[in-house]
Amino acid sequence: MAIATINPATGETVKSFEPMSEEEVQGLIGLAHDRWKQYRTVSFEQKAIWMRAAADLLEADIEDVAQLMTLEMGKTLASARGEAAKCVKGLRFYAQNTEAMLADEGLPGGAGAVGASRAFTRYEPLGVVLAVMPWNYPFWQVLRFAAPALMTGNVGLLKHASNVPQCAMYIQDLFERSGFPKGCFQTLLISSSQVEGVLRDPRVAAATITGSEWAGRSVASICGDEIKPSVLELGGNDPFIVMPSADLDSAVATAVTARTQNNGQSCIAAKRFLIHDAVYDQFTKRFVEAMSALTVGNPVEETTDVGPLATADGRAEVAELVDDAIGKGASILCGGRTVDGDGWYFLPTVIADISPEMRVNDEEVFGPVAMVHRVTDIDDAIALANATPFGLGSSAWTSSPEEQERFISEIAAGQVFINGMTTSYPELAFGGTKRSGYGRELSYHGLREFCNAKTVWVK
Ligand code: NAP
Repeated sequence: MAIATINPATGETVKSFEPMSEEEVQGLIGLAHDRWKQYRTVSFEQKAIWMRAAADLLEADIEDVAQLMTLEMGKTLASARGEAAKCVKGLRFYAQNTEAMLADEGLPGGAGAVGASRAFTRYEPLGVVLAVMPWNYPFWQVLRFAAPALMTGNVGLLKHASNVPQCAMYIQDLFERSGFPKGCFQTLLISSSQVEGVLRDPRVAAATITGSEWAGRSVASICGDEIKPSVLELGGNDPFIVMPSADLDSAVATAVTARTQNNGQSCIAAKRFLIHDAVYDQFTKRFVEAMSALTVGNPVEETTDVGPLATADGRAEVAELVDDAIGKGASILCGGRTVDGDGWYFLPTVIADISPEMRVNDEEVFGPVAMVHRVTDIDDAIALANATPFGLGSSAWTSSPEEQERFISEIAAGQVFINGMTTSYPELAFGGTKRSGYGRELSYHGLREFCNAKTVWVK
């Protein structure tokens, strides 16, 4: 994929970039590795000062940054502003809390239990971490890796998605302007074929990837071969379950947002709507009406609800999955097609009569396409929720405490949200099970992923 800013609202190529040469990449890895030797000893207090400065600078730049995201990947301006503001919050969270969350950890029974006068775990940084990142949340995905990594004392190399190069360059610049020494966080403008060389470099200690299953498999297998830790944040096919006792007004309104947020391109977007028979007709009617009423258009217009998909290929893939379902007997309740003209628009879509042989069952639809299923009871809902190779997020709507507990304990996913939309917070761990990946970001889990948990025993 060419490294370029291409406006998804028009298809126009705005700016192209040459991938870095092997020599340049080697130079940047060398700088990162040399920098880490000093940076790992910098105090939490100093790192927090720089991290807070990054938050302040980003906050001052929110409008420019939002315009940049919208230009490069097509999210609406309102959503881009929200993403930037969330990043500010995330940077401040790690500035404030890292020292306490990474403090030496004693034993439950005290050091005497292991015959020592002092015994504890110390969390130490690993070194240079490569982050391979997707375009869909071009700032949040990167900063939710970078903030904990830098606060821990690791240094970062970013290989961002090829369609968001200017976002990637802005982020490197942000950390440099904030005071982090040069080399602590660098953007590599490289293609995906150059990733293997970076992963195999002995100066690179670990990797994290957020992206598709295929990219995740490739990065994980190289890391496995090199015996380097990795975190995989991959795709999802999240269930959104509505039971008879749910607040239907709230469930319908949230369902629309949960499926169309970020123009339908979110890993934790609700994708499969599993609706109890008793409320299926009512929910589906209202859901289809609300999806049909959304304004699809240029993401810079404040009145737009759903902008274009980020790439031409992405839109073609969504259309292919929808056509496959139609060909195998699915019913289109609204949308179901691309919009004629410039830009990569796809209408908000609701599909019913889904059957197991359709690709939409096992594959992630990365666009504003919802599948509605009728379920007979809670057993049926849980069985269908788990009938997917993925296990990222999930959302269940019910006012029954017994049903809530069953969803919490029986859904196989990294997140269960009850009466709310799956989302991420700096305070809460984020990640998946099954083919959605492994490892966790955010909270103290995100800090510890790239640490050596060193056991200390002293007598
Ligand atoms: P993608 O095509 O896998 O790309 C993600 C990143 O991986 C890009 O930087 C890409 O570079 C790179 N890449 C692609 N193939 C690679 C390979 N073989 N080796 C090394 N790097 C490779 O995914 P995407 O289309 O950008 O993003 C959408 C996917 O990300 C969806 O499946 C979504 O669910 C998932 N996602 C998951 C989470 C989560 O937290 N679990 C969050 C957001 C998105 P190029 O751009 O140069 O190809």
